[in-house]
Amino acid sequence: MAVAAGAAVSAASAGSVMDVVGTHSAEAGDIALLANGEAAPATGAPDAPSSSTPATPSLPEPVVVSALDSAAENAQSAMLYAGTEINTQREIAEEQARRPKVALPAEGTFTSGFGMRWGAMHAGIDIANSNGTPILAATDGVVIDSGPAQGFGNWIRIMSDDGTMTVYGHMESLDVREGERVYAGQRIAGMGNMGFSTGSHLHFEVLLNNGSQHVDPVIWLAQHGIYLAGAGSVEGSSSIPFGS
Ligand SMILES: [Zn+2]
Repeated sequence: MAVAAGAAVSAASAGSVMDVVGTHSAEAGDIALLANGEAAPATGAPDAPSSSTPATPSLPEPVVVSALDSAAENAQSAMLYAGTEINTQREIAEEQARRPKVALPAEGTFTSGFGMRWGAMHAGIDIANSNGTPILAATDGVVIDSGPAQGFGNWIRIMSDDGTMTVYGHMESLDVREGERVYAGQRIAGMGNMGFSTGSHLHFEVLLNNGSQHVDPVIWLAQHGIYLAGAGSVEGSSSIPFGS
């Protein structure tokens, strides 16, 4: 009986641990921070680690703060400042970690996939939406082109640090300049109908290996956890004649 109950408890706690592990690491970090903040007032034993709390890098901070509470020297403010500085740096690092490394370049309707189309290779995908719809950088990186280009009307090309190049076409407005550093999810342009285009849409390409190898953007996005509504098949089979 006791064994069975113990097993049930173990199973339950294993389940809850897995829940924690399964959630966003950023959320786990937030929970840990919250727990630390409440540790001093809520319990009399801040040094006794809760057995179920996963170890996090944020644990040492409250110890520094409580040591400061008992000290009454001028050094106190300096230490406090140092602690605040560390906290700020950690918050920046956590903010960086939470930021998406790959972002969907535009909201809209998936109108054309990657592959042969009208007897020619369509080297990207098309996402249609109204004029001026925000176009976002899909990756962190450096803008290597921003301006007019044959067929594209306007184009922007971004080279990421890992050698993945993304290409954006047909925009009516450009918000970034060549040489500028951008981050994934940053607005870089407004959607348009410039160049060889049959309606307001984004033409989006992804090239690996320093921009030398085209890949299907639908698959590349999916590999980074972003699924395009309407893209259905990973081969991007949509053949609606809209875009370019
Ligand atoms: Zn296209």
